[in-house]
Amino acid sequence: MSQKQSIPDLYHFTCHHGHAGISRTGVLIPNIHPLMRGLGPLLWLTDLASPETRESVGLTSRLTTCDRLAYRYSVHCRAAIHWFEIHGRAPKDVVADLESSGGQPEHWWVVRRMLTASEFSFDEKWRRDVAASELYK
Ligand SMILES: [Zn+2]
Repeated sequence: MSQKQSIPDLYHFTCHHGHAGISRTGVLIPNIHPLMRGLGPLLWLTDLASPETRESVGLTSRLTTCDRLAYRYSVHCRAAIHWFEIHGRAPKDVVADLESSGGQPEHWWVVRRMLTASEFSFDEKWRRDVAASELYK
């Protein structure tokens, strides 16, 4: 991918803990992935407005019971880059693990800095049918 892609409509999904933090601070804060420290802090975004599964956007919750698709933010940030622009700089085995098991990495985007309030908005209309899709799995 030598040519920079134009940036589509992007979304950031988070759980109720993430939502509470964002409401309190008014910013979206990137995090260092413990297995991909070399990439620096990443804020994960997707161009999927309504992901069918958590796996598709890499938001599985292996360590918590959080629904990381519970809240949706619309993001407008010219600093967003496609995941494929930087995934080659992370350890191959970590990337392979991350992108496999139902993942759709072609829909993953990242921002490598904090987003301020003017760059995103909370979408109050987003509701996920948790009862149907997750509880009875
Ligand atoms: Zn949580």
